[in-house]
Amino acid sequence: MQPDIAQRAAALNDRYRHHAAVTVMEKALKDPEVGNVALVSSFGAESVVLLHMVSLISPGTPVLFVDTLMLFQETLDYQREVSRTLGLTDVRTITAEQAMLDLEDPDGTLHQFNTDACCALRKTVPLEQALSGFDAWITGRKRYQAATRATLDFFEVETPTRMKINPLAHWGREDLEEYMVQNRLPRHPLVAKGYPSIGCAPCTSPVKPGEDPRAGRWRGSQKTECGIHFIGGKIVRTNGNKENAA
Ligand code: SF4
Repeated sequence: MQPDIAQRAAALNDRYRHHAAVTVMEKALKDPEVGNVALVSSFGAESVVLLHMVSLISPGTPVLFVDTLMLFQETLDYQREVSRTLGLTDVRTITAEQAMLDLEDPDGTLHQFNTDACCALRKTVPLEQALSGFDAWITGRKRYQAATRATLDFFEVETPTRMKINPLAHWGREDLEEYMVQNRLPRHPLVAKGYPSIGCAPCTSPVKPGEDPRAGRWRGSQKTECGIHFIGGKIVRTNGNKENAA
């Protein structure tokens, strides 16, 4: 019988504790204790690092890209360019069901008065549905990003049946920059225009020098993340920390 998910995550953390990000990624994609794995990517400012690692190890890995239908055109163009350049062969664009959009946001203005509901409709629920067939998903979360992530492990339990894998848990911003430069990876075009963190067009603005990189996300509101996560397979609201899945 398969050990329970908490035991498996603990064993994987022990096994790969001293390994580098690429090795963790490689093992995660091949270790039978992990199971079916997808990479979830926003094709944002730093996403190309994980996408590049996946392309080297297993370019046929499913890559889930949530298109909220509110993204910058630059993101859509970048997604196509990066997927082609890296030779990723199974990029799946995830969107909300049209019937749900018609029902809950028929004129596309929900983000103006209820950003949590809009993020749930356009991001979180479609992503959860897309992830339902997977045993684990790879995220770009890192320890330095928030106090709540200070002890982030490579493998963590998300639901009773699914793990999150964080190969970059120990990386800093400089490591990401260095990796992108060393590997000559294409940058999201909005980074050069003052967007170090890129989400939906209506909810993302450029940041000024010295500001937090995520200060341009939902500027002027208390909201600092999508606001809803999955715990125990159920959607729950969380307190805002500057968090992002990918
Ligand atoms: S970031 Fe803004 S537009 Fe995008 S899903 Fe959330 S509230 Fe809606």
